[in-house]
Amino acid sequence: MKIRQSRSDFRQRVRASLADENLRISLQNLGRRMDKDRQQRWAETQDINALRRQAQAVRLDGLRHLPELLETLEAKVLARGGHVYWAEDAIAANEYILDVAHQHNVQRIVKSKSMTSEEIGLNRALQDAGLEVLETDLGEYILQLAGQPPTHIVAPAVHLRISDIARLFHEKLGMPETYDIELLTAAARSRLRRQFLRAEMGITGANFAVAETGTLAMITNEGNGRFVNSLPPLHVAIVGVEKVIRSLEDLLLLLQLLPRSATGQTLTSYVSLYNGPARPDDPDGPGEFHLVLLDNGRSRLLADGYGEILTCIRCGACMNACPVYQAIGGEAYGWVYPGPMGSVLTPLLQTEKASELPFASTLCGACRDACPVMIDLPRLLLRLRSQASEAQRLTLERLGFHLWANVATDPGHFHRAQKWGHIASLLLGLGKALRRAPWPLSRWTQMRYFPSVAQESFSHYWVRRQQNGREQSTGNPEGTSSEN
Ligand code: SF4
Repeated sequence: MKIRQSRSDFRQRVRASLADENLRISLQNLGRRMDKDRQQRWAETQDINALRRQAQAVRLDGLRHLPELLETLEAKVLARGGHVYWAEDAIAANEYILDVAHQHNVQRIVKSKSMTSEEIGLNRALQDAGLEVLETDLGEYILQLAGQPPTHIVAPAVHLRISDIARLFHEKLGMPETYDIELLTAAARSRLRRQFLRAEMGITGANFAVAETGTLAMITNEGNGRFVNSLPPLHVAIVGVEKVIRSLEDLLLLLQLLPRSATGQTLTSYVSLYNGPARPDDPDGPGEFHLVLLDNGRSRLLADGYGEILTCIRCGACMNACPVYQAIGGEAYGWVYPGPMGSVLTPLLQTEKASELPFASTLCGACRDACPVMIDLPRLLLRLRSQASEAQRLTLERLGFHLWANVATDPGHFHRAQKWGHIASLLLGLGKALRRAPWPLSRWTQMRYFPSVAQESFSHYWVRRQQNGREQSTGNPEGTSSEN
């Protein structure tokens, strides 16, 4: 699936999001609440930072031994009667899943929430082939009815108000318009339950894939994922290759951190572990199971030294802590992965069209502090920025920074520039700050003032202050310095 933005698209999306007051209020409310809940859970957890370091080590270990762990995972799944397909990219993954559907004359598919399937545009590929695909996570179901993309990786429909959902259900499901959340949820549930029984194929993702046992782990709060992977006769799981971990012990460790960081819960309502097709003595479960291991640029990213971002466990905590995400929301990022992790991952997976995303950050470091696996997102963003600016031809901005570097690295140049800058500020009558500059500096002063240049540089002030202090301590009653 190709990213939906160009440079100007990105700016237009940002402007549209900034103009949407309701979106901003919803995002800020959600972000504050989830971030506060995360902090509370972390504070209650004994030596949370030791736990985070262990989780980071587990994820890095998985990446370091990726080929071997993936082969172990494959062998385990095959041994249990499952099928494994290694998909190099989105096209290969979609074609394989479509082939499986055609082989089994599938018409109706139910899906649980899966960012990986969003990444490859799976719904569109299946629907274009005439298949009926139904999202069963409540947030995703609402978005599917509304024809909208997700805004947040954990709370996909957060931008919609109860009144929006009431109207949507009235229009699409024909129910009386109501703001009663229980009634709305019950309406969705009764429709979804019927579809689980009719579907011939279920598609899920997985939070983790355990190599040593061939187990896929899925954590949810609604339980719909369990219907998806156990009621239809055919189950397909699509999993990014980076989700593989070594052992069930590693899984237990990560399960302590993921819900605490994502929703502020000590554990989600459902933790489902599944191991392929139903065995003869199992009371239920799919007769056939396919695991699609998706690369889609991940190996390249690993080879380029950006593997750290692949340790992400998709908790969304960085979004809840990010002031930029909370102002512009998920759609502005133009693809499935929003917020700080999306600003790193999207340009790496969709190299050609997302070069502005690494600049959509204040680099305040809140995302790094909130990340349960300690991904140094600001450092990765800076590296991507540096690569983006190196790739640029000479621009006014580069020229400006080049001049600035010349001035700032030479004390003589710096003091002269400071002196002349101050005189220019006086001549232009700027007062304390320039509030509106002509183009191209107008892009700066749209959002902030440009301070006028001070009469004295800090280094001069500091030297003078030190000298005054020394003279006072040696009894010089005038307190004069050589500069005065
Ligand atoms: S980068 Fe860290 S905080 Fe952000 S979603 Fe991934 S694991 Fe969570």
